Amino acid sequence: MRKEEITRCEWIKGKPDYYVEYHDNVWGKPEYNDQELFKWLSLEIFHIGLSWQLVLSKYENFIDAFDGFEVQKVAVYGDNKIEELMEDEGIIRYRRKIEATINNAKRFLDIQDEFGSFSDYIWGFSNHEQVVKMFDEHLTKSDLSDQVTEDFKKRGFKFIGSVTMYSFLQAIGIINDHDLDCDFR
Ligand SMILES: [Zn+2]
Repeated sequence: MRKEEITRCEWIKGKPDYYVEYHDNVWGKPEYNDQELFKWLSLEIFHIGLSWQLVLSKYENFIDAFDGFEVQKVAVYGDNKIEELMEDEGIIRYRRKIEATINNAKRFLDIQDEFGSFSDYIWGFSNHEQVVKMFDEHLTKSDLSDQVTEDFKKRGFKFIGSVTMYSFLQAIGIINDHDLDCDFR
């Protein structure tokens, strides 16, 4: 296929290359790897109140600063590491989000203990099937994101509301919200 023949979602038009790459290779694509799932969950925490483009523009810095979001490592970050992150100009420095990420790493490990993998747990909410957009609409949350959020809150995750959850579910491909005519649908 020649490049000019590719049809993408309307919203990605005019965005920088790294954002287009994310649209093409990550967004809406089923992800089952726990390490990847924890990374995208954590980046969605930093997304809150800011643009996703801003988060993605700092993607490599985040990966470096957070040890590749290796969940076992993040779960044991102490005060020194928090201070180090607060001084890192390459990332979004917001103490409560950093603390939430560390807390969430611990809760993530709890889920791995209980379900064998976080992937099995999170995909269980959609009976291990992708929810594919059928109408030309742009949702910011849904019954599914409400339901998963409620369970996350019970389990002690922090900084997760239904809109953030919806964005996470789109990122990891449980929800496929590509436009009906997008080639990546
Ligand atoms: Zn698309």
